[in-house]
Amino acid sequence: MARIQSPNHFALCLVFSLVLNFYFCTKLYFSGCNVNNYQLSWSQRAAEEAEAVAAVECSGHGRAYLDGLFVNGKAVCECNSCFGGPDCSQFFPDCVADADSGDPLFLEPFWIHHAASSALVVAGWHRMSYQFSDHSFISHELEKQILKLHSVAKNAVTEGKYIIFGAGSTQLISAAVYALSPDNSSSSPAKVVASIPYYPVYQIQTDFFNSVNFEFQGDASLWNGNTSDRSTNVIEFVTSPNNPDGQLKKAVLQGSSSVKAIHDHAYYWPHFTAIPAPADEDLMIFTMSKLTGHAGSRFGWAIVKDEAVYQRMVQYMTLSSMGVSRDAQLRALKLLKVVLKRDGRRIFDFAYNTMSKRWEKLSSAVSKSKRYSLQAIPPQFCNFFKKVRGPSPAYAWLKCEREEDQDCAAVLKASKIIGRGGSIFSAGNRYVRLSLLKSQEDFELILHRIYDLVHSEEDGSSKTMCRS
Ligand code: PMP
Repeated sequence: MARIQSPNHFALCLVFSLVLNFYFCTKLYFSGCNVNNYQLSWSQRAAEEAEAVAAVECSGHGRAYLDGLFVNGKAVCECNSCFGGPDCSQFFPDCVADADSGDPLFLEPFWIHHAASSALVVAGWHRMSYQFSDHSFISHELEKQILKLHSVAKNAVTEGKYIIFGAGSTQLISAAVYALSPDNSSSSPAKVVASIPYYPVYQIQTDFFNSVNFEFQGDASLWNGNTSDRSTNVIEFVTSPNNPDGQLKKAVLQGSSSVKAIHDHAYYWPHFTAIPAPADEDLMIFTMSKLTGHAGSRFGWAIVKDEAVYQRMVQYMTLSSMGVSRDAQLRALKLLKVVLKRDGRRIFDFAYNTMSKRWEKLSSAVSKSKRYSLQAIPPQFCNFFKKVRGPSPAYAWLKCEREEDQDCAAVLKASKIIGRGGSIFSAGNRYVRLSLLKSQEDFELILHRIYDLVHSEEDGSSKTMCRS
């Protein structure tokens, strides 16, 4: 039987409950007030400025930047190629499709999606010193994230090796050539070589620095069998995947202690290639430019096995620039933390899907033509995705197959497509490199022009058939 409560007891309970409710309501009210009243101090204006610039829409065909032009306090739009006008709404239908540069803007939508986690506020007093507090030039937090990244991406063995930061891999390439060359002018200069087709900066930089200790000697295969002479030091650039043709390359010259290799792994990420095994070479170079797309931040790193080589690279970095900008390191740290979320799945899935779709579309368009062909990249097992996966290269290496098309870049240019001619990569001019890394809008225009090119060929051949 339920116990009936006396009226006095009931009133007591009511008062008690009212007091409790009042207490919790006021607590909630004031804590709510606190949250609402909580003011950011010095960072608030910076955040407002950043958001105001980000909110400038530029009709979806451009972007305004904090360090761009401002008119009457409003950020001015910088328009994508083929668009113009104050709000980038004007389309120029006859503009050329620019497939030349390797600007990795295909990753921009990823960073727009991750705007909150990748944004950074930097105080005026942040890391003003030349050095970190341990007197080094490198952020050990960033170093830890990079090592974690390689173990997550399964693309490099880092245990027992040294790490050096550089202003992009461009600076590290020259530091590596310096470090692997003889350090006294009494020995003959190291011969710097690469197998064709190769990234032209290796040659341009080596020639530019014009040192008594190294000189560019062109095609690596010409030195094959030529390196038994132990007094000749040879430095081979091995680019894997290769720029321009996306192939996973191995060193051509091996077996002699006088041959050293610089393994440029700018594109050795699940975006662009299957990762068959972690790279375990003595000198490997990586870059943020093609990993996160932040080419403008100028940040790269080298993983080096030999301590003496590492020390020479550190000496180069110290003398040439006193290490890498601390601001670039801070940005890299922030971005890598986002990359590492969900063990890299987010960025690698996004990048691979984007690049493989682009490749499928382009190769399907080109396959309709007998006049042009693309490089073949076989499907391969990828240790990151744990499955066999198809190609997703950074560049298409297009060949003009017709006898009369000696200058393939000129053939494409006539159809308003700008590519990079094969001779720039020391291959013949029958080849053209087309960048697949650009923004979606740019890629779509390139694809559109390729369709036109292939269809104009069909139209041309049907006219020829009619005439004959
Ligand atoms: N190596 C290769 C093979 C490249 O394609 C590039 C950029 N196009 C670089 C190095 C230089 O990259 P960054 O200096 O931006 O790191």
